Amino acid sequence: MESSPAEKALARSVETRLGEEMAALEKVVNIDSGTFNTEGVREVGRFFEKELQALGFKTRWIPMPEAMHRGGHLVAERVAPKPPGKRVLLIGHLDTVFEGQEHRFRNDGAAIRGAGVIDMKGGDVVILFALKALESAGMLEGAAVRVFLTGDEENPGLPTSESRRDIVAAAKESDVGLSFEPDTGKNTIILGRRGLSTWSLDVTGAQGHSSNVLRPSRGAGAIYEASRILDGFRGAFSEGNVTVNPGLFLGGTDVAYDATKSAGTSAGKYNVVSKTVTVKGDLRALEEPEREAAKARMREIAAASLPKTSAKLEFDDIVPPWPIAEGSRSVLKMVDAVSRALGQPALTEADPVGRGFGDANFVGGLLAVADGLGVKGHGTHSPDETLDPKSVGPATQRAAVLIGRLLHPTR
Ligand SMILES: [Zn+2]
Repeated sequence: MESSPAEKALARSVETRLGEEMAALEKVVNIDSGTFNTEGVREVGRFFEKELQALGFKTRWIPMPEAMHRGGHLVAERVAPKPPGKRVLLIGHLDTVFEGQEHRFRNDGAAIRGAGVIDMKGGDVVILFALKALESAGMLEGAAVRVFLTGDEENPGLPTSESRRDIVAAAKESDVGLSFEPDTGKNTIILGRRGLSTWSLDVTGAQGHSSNVLRPSRGAGAIYEASRILDGFRGAFSEGNVTVNPGLFLGGTDVAYDATKSAGTSAGKYNVVSKTVTVKGDLRALEEPEREAAKARMREIAAASLPKTSAKLEFDDIVPPWPIAEGSRSVLKMVDAVSRALGQPALTEADPVGRGFGDANFVGGLLAVADGLGVKGHGTHSPDETLDPKSVGPATQRAAVLIGRLLHPTR
């Protein structure tokens, strides 16, 4: 489908505001908003809140419980009772992996650096300026649009049943979700992501003189047994969609683990068979049955104990898997059509394995969702996070026309 005169006008309208858009990006990147900087997260939220209110959105701030130490979420809604098209949910986040101080907005023309410049303050301004163009064109009239900007995407507050309750509620009142995490840069759109579980392995052995280790009287000790289990995981999960990663290992006669610091200490001697091991790790899977099958396999491996040892393996499901659904594929078709109508590249679906989760995971089972609609660049989650400034205008035009088609299918 060619772009209509109204869509060409939308694209021009985005173009005329590009200077203003880059200034908005600079402003929000220079507000430090690491996930645990709750005041900074809220300050970024206040910027978007004011801007969205000026576009006729009703806004509210969803605080998180004190003990969770998270900034909360911003919700902005412009919801008419009988919208002519789809009810659209636009997803962004206010927090960044890095705190910001060392990573200010720095524009050298070809590239722009800064904390969250693509992940995803760049995506947030794409949402805002697409909505500005749509509002100017009168296309938000009678429509149903919700904007959900979370304050803790990079490290969701636990339990996620609580920190993600409101985005799930917003998804239940929407038909299509669009998430503005960074563009893959490969002319692909993300239609699925793996979920996350964490696991904790605690192994016990019979402490004693090392001269009898691996002999019937003394057994294997905790460290040999934990090593056997982890080698079993390595063998079972070296290929396929599921990955299992041990991230921390403490072993000896005594170990102490501090969950708040993700750190610990261990004590032991060369001549003492180890008594205890604690391992912390993660498990990522694309589908719920595959996640459960992986857990069963891991439990089976852990249960085959070496002499005089025992193991306890516990899982915590943090983020649901988001497998690719047909509804999401039909959104991709629309994004691809919009992209080509604007003279941008054709788009296909991204491999859902091989990247982390996002807030889209929490709503992917409830509605059609496409992700990776934000800006291009590289170095997410690193101090070298860099934006390709040439991607801002096209991403915003793509978003404006796409949202326009969803809201007003007959125009
Ligand atoms: Zn992100």
